[in-house]
Amino acid sequence: FFTNEEHKVIIVGLDNAGKTTILYQFLMNEVVHTSPTIGSNVEEVVWKNIHFLMWDIGGQESLRSSWNTYYTNAEFIILVIDSTDRERLMITREELYRMLSNEELRKAAVLIFANKQDIKGCMSPAEISQQLNLTSIKDHGHHIQACCGLTGEGLYLGLEWIANQLK
Ligand code: GDP
Repeated sequence: FFTNEEHKVIIVGLDNAGKTTILYQFLMNEVVHTSPTIGSNVEEVVWKNIHFLMWDIGGQESLRSSWNTYYTNAEFIILVIDSTDRERLMITREELYRMLSNEELRKAAVLIFANKQDIKGCMSPAEISQQLNLTSIKDHGHHIQACCGLTGEGLYLGLEWIANQLK
């Protein structure tokens, strides 16, 4: 599967989830073209000839209402979760279902990174999946992937899932 077509991927998640760290891992390991003209929060990641526009849109409460602006034409949502943050998982869940009900994201598939798996006592992907009630999502492709943003472990398995959705 080779194409130069660009696929827009948006990265979302609460503050401190690890979005910047994960984006940085992608930038470290691949030939990357950045597009400074688009804005400082956007990086273009090229992987297996698939172009991903990574939109790190921030997760601070004050910014959450502006997530909507970034949805247009997004094919994939990468939702980054701090697997140690039990207290705010329900906030993430609310935001997830809010996104999935958005018309702009009708066709978007969701990759969930269960990040910070290196930390003892963190929630497993199975636990997060259950808490987020992922099996109830019937109208969007979705996949949960354990990862560690610091080492990069699991990140490419996630991207591979995305690449497979494009086939
Ligand atoms: P953002 O606000 O979502 O962009 O989160 P950051 O990428 O800034 O990460 C927040 C904090 O979590 C930073 O101190 C990171 O070093 C740390 N962090 C990110 N990913 C991991 C991980 O997989 N394991 C651990 N232990 N810390 C992580």
